[in-house]
Amino acid sequence: MSLKLQNRKVDSFGTKAALSYRIPMISEPYISMAGNLLIFISQPLFDKQSNFIGYIGGTLYLKRASILNELLQVHYYQDGSYLYVVDENHRLLYHPDKSRIGEQVFDNQVIEEVLKGNSGTQLVTNSKGVAMLAGYAPMTVAPWGVVTQRPLESTLAPLDDLMWQVFVKTAPIGLLTFIFIWVLARLIAQPLRQLADTANTLDRPSTSIELAQIRSWYFESNELRKAMLKGVGLLQSKIGLLRQEAQTDPLTCLHNRRSLDMQINHLIAQRCPFAVLAIDIDHFKRVNDEFGHDIGDVVLQSLAKILLDVTRDSDVVARTGGEEFIVIMPRVEAKRAYQLAERLRMRVSESYIDPVGCINVSIGISGWPIEQLNIDEVFKLADQALYQAKKTGRNRSVVDATYSQDLTPVSEPSILE
Ligand code: GH3
Ligand code: MG
Ligand code: MG
Repeated sequence: MSLKLQNRKVDSFGTKAALSYRIPMISEPYISMAGNLLIFISQPLFDKQSNFIGYIGGTLYLKRASILNELLQVHYYQDGSYLYVVDENHRLLYHPDKSRIGEQVFDNQVIEEVLKGNSGTQLVTNSKGVAMLAGYAPMTVAPWGVVTQRPLESTLAPLDDLMWQVFVKTAPIGLLTFIFIWVLARLIAQPLRQLADTANTLDRPSTSIELAQIRSWYFESNELRKAMLKGVGLLQSKIGLLRQEAQTDPLTCLHNRRSLDMQINHLIAQRCPFAVLAIDIDHFKRVNDEFGHDIGDVVLQSLAKILLDVTRDSDVVARTGGEEFIVIMPRVEAKRAYQLAERLRMRVSESYIDPVGCINVSIGISGWPIEQLNIDEVFKLADQALYQAKKTGRNRSVVDATYSQDLTPVSEPSILE
């Protein structure tokens, strides 16, 4: 025999254990008589009467070439992967680093787990500080655990590669998809944006036209546009109504003071000269006293109709107080204003108003521009002229002296002619 142990008494640890336990067994690693670190594997032998007659045993040299080493050294991955085997005493039975075989390893989570009989995987750092993915499983034939380890980097490297390839292949499609979505989103948002812009200026007269021009190419935006068009129509008619109410005297439907001011400002801005007729009903109190306030109102309405009837469309007729009216006559100078006022006064005095009969008015006349006078002063002069008319007997027209001297050339004819 190669070990030259024939006829020698074998009393190694493994032999003794095999003889005393008489069961199939795998010993713990121990140093043999020949000085080798080994494991003793034995099978007891019994005769037909079940008497123990000995055993067949074999040794597995842990630090020398053996079938165990051979099997465990073969790897499919040449990337730093390796495995090791531990026994129940935390002793390394196999390790690619031969110097570590026989070493006991404690404080190693994976070894603790596998020796508890668990199998699984774990991320660990090996004795060289390298991050490793460990897989472990206990063995059934012996109280050993097998641990395989692979560097985390080489495990993830193919994934990185794969991810890069996926990215490169999907990037053009992703980009195209993004552009497509962006264009589509713009197309969808465009009518909404235009509608929103228009919604900020709903009170503008041009809003309806702008709304009608918006290309609402899909159902929802078209419905929104239609609803907005309807809303704008209602809003603008309401605004128109309110504007008219705000500028109209409710009793006579003539311009009120605010509207009169707007018209005058417009004429002044255009440097358009005009005559101002301040008209007041004579002894109107008496009408109220004799016929009542309601009939007095009818008289005011009738006078408004007469004034509208005898003036031009371009003239502005306003009720500025109880029974006081103002007529503005653009492009009319003093002399002509007087003629027109007289004809107007006569038309009033000739008109029968049921049941009151005929009424008279007094008229004070002034006009703009009068050199170095502003419009308030012009109105004051018209009032003073009216006062003169009242004072000198009523039912007459009086031109303010300053205005009558004014030589503003005016040519427009009036319908009163
Ligand atoms: P004068 O010739 O001096 O102008 O005499 P008058 O009676 O017209 O005097 P005054 O102008 O001071 O009186 C105006 C009257 O007009 C007083 C008021 O009873 C009446 N009045 C004012 N507003 C209204 C109105 O809205 N309706 C009616 N029915 N009467 C009004
Ligand atoms: Mg009065
Ligand atoms: Mg009066």
